[in-house]
Amino acid sequence: MLDVLVIGGGPAGSTAATLLARKGFSVRLLERDKFPRFQIGESLLPYNNDLFDRLGVSDELKRGEYFPKYGAHFVTGDGRTEFTFRFDRILPPEHQRSFQVRRSEFDHLLLRNAAASGVDVREETPVTSVRLENESCFVRVASGEEIEARFVIDGSGHASLLGSRTGKKSDIASLKKIAVFAHYRGVEKPKGRDAGNTTIVVIRDGWFWLIPVTGELMSVGLVVDRDHFVNCGLSAEELLERSIAATPFVAERMKSAGRVTQVYSRKDFSYRVRDLVGKRFALIGDAAGFLDPIFSTGVYMAMKSADIAADAVEARLRKGSMRGLERYERDMTRALGRYFHFISNFYRREFLEVFLQPSNRFGLLHAIVRILAGNVFGAAGDRLKLALFFVLVRIQKRRPVIARPIRWEALPRAASL
Ligand SMILES: Cc1cc2nc3c(=O)[nH]c(=O)nc-3n(C[C@H](O)[C@H](O)[C@H](O)COP(=O)(O)OP(=O)(O)OC[C@H]3O[C@@H](n4cnc5c(N)ncnc54)[C@H](O)[C@@H]3O)c2cc1C
Repeated sequence: MLDVLVIGGGPAGSTAATLLARKGFSVRLLERDKFPRFQIGESLLPYNNDLFDRLGVSDELKRGEYFPKYGAHFVTGDGRTEFTFRFDRILPPEHQRSFQVRRSEFDHLLLRNAAASGVDVREETPVTSVRLENESCFVRVASGEEIEARFVIDGSGHASLLGSRTGKKSDIASLKKIAVFAHYRGVEKPKGRDAGNTTIVVIRDGWFWLIPVTGELMSVGLVVDRDHFVNCGLSAEELLERSIAATPFVAERMKSAGRVTQVYSRKDFSYRVRDLVGKRFALIGDAAGFLDPIFSTGVYMAMKSADIAADAVEARLRKGSMRGLERYERDMTRALGRYFHFISNFYRREFLEVFLQPSNRFGLLHAIVRILAGNVFGAAGDRLKLALFFVLVRIQKRRPVIARPIRWEALPRAASL
């Protein structure tokens, strides 16, 4: 019998599998697709760097074609209000830089690293069902084979195989969105270090991302309410291209750009899952829940959850203890909750006014940069500062005395017929 079976070879699954194999367990990873495969989610966070070091992939990330990212630039669609949150000016050296990646390559790097660490990696092996028993679990794959393991980790991403089966996965009504996106060449970038920043462009009813995945390629995406897409009478491609043209800041950057991929879309990507752990299972990464991509938290949350869960699974298998798994569930739920607070507020005018014109009184700017960089698991010291930030947002809602009002009504909107 195997010790651990991991479902899914994305960043969550390959991280958990690698760490557990290195702890001496027999680990098999089952991945539905053949890598490299396309995936969205190209902008990483600096707090992931510690894990890249431990996994032994930092040198390859620095050597590769991956674009260094030193900050995140937020700007309104008319270009009038903007701010760059700079990791390299505010964070300690180990967190000053992150990476923009082509996910097909990045995920493949992590999966190869898992295999080199002793994981039995099986690609093109979709899991069709999981049966949890008292002493072990049985995982069935598409060929009909049933595999027994002492513990199963669900890293199946958005599919959340176990979460969906147990009915514990639910959509977040306030975040019913759709993203339409593609890669372009010839998009203008700022000079110097700022060239690698993620740029988030806020429009009245949504936002764009501009992520330089390589020196040449720019990932450009638009996120709007799903209802807008349903009612706008445009195809995904028309919605993306017409909204680009209607948004002065983006149109200016893209005046000489050409699209080099099809336009992809993803909808209803925000959901929560209850019951992340049991005696024989743990859900990690997107399988444990995913929120709106506005702060590029997905890959970091996937890998960090895998890291914490791997320690908890070790304690479970060696000592029979559930404490680590229960702590993992608590920590993961709390971290997702912290981001949820930021994300749900991001769609409010008063939040944006304060966020885009931040003050560093009481260390508020530094606390925001840390949370944007991924400091959500051990952020006790910043909790008070962030609470104060939200007090300022509430004051701004009543009277705009904290920050200059944005000319909201004049901001561009997503295109429609
Ligand atoms: C529009 C959008 C933009 C985003 N932008 C960003 C960003 O800029 N930065 C960021 O960090 N994150 C971003 N994300 C989130 C990011 O894509 C995910 O959080 C991340 O990929 C999660 O990793 P994971 O390993 O949990 O899941 P995945 O990467 O989805 O990997 C899951 C794997 O499981 C496999 N699988 C699924 N079902 C089965 C099965 N039955 N059997 C076997 N294998 C299976 C899949 O083939 C897949 O390879 C974005 C998400 C969206 C929707």
